Amino acid sequence: MKTKKLIKRARQVSHPFRITKGKDFRLKDIDPDDTLEFNKDEHKPRAEEALAMGVAALAEFQDKLYAQDKWAVLLIFQAMDAAGKDGAIKHVMSGVNPQGCQVYSFKSPSSEDLDHDFLWRCMKCLPNRGQIGIFNRSYYEEVLVVRVHRAFLEKQKLPPKLMRKNIWKDRFEDIRNFEQYLTRNGVIVRKFFLHVSKKEQKRRFLERIDNPVKNWKFSSNDAAERDYWDDYMKAYEEMIQETATKDSPWYVVPADNKWFTRVVVGAAIIDALAELKLAYPKVDDRKLKELAAARQKLEKK
Ligand code: ATP
Ligand code: MG
Repeated sequence: MKTKKLIKRARQVSHPFRITKGKDFRLKDIDPDDTLEFNKDEHKPRAEEALAMGVAALAEFQDKLYAQDKWAVLLIFQAMDAAGKDGAIKHVMSGVNPQGCQVYSFKSPSSEDLDHDFLWRCMKCLPNRGQIGIFNRSYYEEVLVVRVHRAFLEKQKLPPKLMRKNIWKDRFEDIRNFEQYLTRNGVIVRKFFLHVSKKEQKRRFLERIDNPVKNWKFSSNDAAERDYWDDYMKAYEEMIQETATKDSPWYVVPADNKWFTRVVVGAAIIDALAELKLAYPKVDDRKLKELAAARQKLEKK
């Protein structure tokens, strides 16, 4: 497929799930089992083929991004456990040059993290120009797990006066401003919520218990979090309503079918990179002369 056609296709596949204005967003409008027009059995191989092409296109875009050394790309992944974050990251980035890519996972904050403002640990991990940075979880945990379990907030050593009822609104505003700041500095931000259903999560947890190769992935705490499912969904919905913007959109990606999740994520990244109109840097006259002189010298010996 020609690059132009691929970009057009990437748009068709990713735009149905892209949220640029949060106001009217409702989580119930996106079905975790959706696979667009790809019929599951019939089209899965075709979707996988599309993914392979997408991976090749991504590698080419990334090469230009690196050579140009102007833009940086930040991809944020958020999801409930077993929604397939790790797999999506692995597959989508499988073709790219490791030198142009950085992945960070954000777990429970350390005591050093808790001694700082909530963006601090993520700011330290922002991608360099020319690079794609991936956050496996991020500062968005600050309005998700921290909101669902208030005990985390208590541990954050905030002055009591600032622990107002409005603290989540404050955080949404801070996040919006932070992402706008990044955008204005040449860091492109794209955010992915892998939307898995509670039923499919249960199936995947059971598989982790039944399959010895997957046992290591299972933590009983993950299963315990299911009791808070509705609270999480409410927190996700409001987070998206409050932080989806034109410049840093959320993609709410159906995640009950892993192959489809990967196709949509890959397509969204291709769309984002295509928008940058990347090109290899052009050399100036001086550089051209330098190249010609080098050629002459090489040919002599
Ligand atoms: P895996 O796919 O391996 O399970 P994971 O991202 O779920 O990956 P875990 O070590 O299982 O990694 O979990 C990390 C935990 O850290 C999550 O439960 C997450 O909610 C929690 N966490 C992340 N950021 C924060 C934060 N700022 N405050 C409190 N908890 C956080
Ligand atoms: Mg986990």
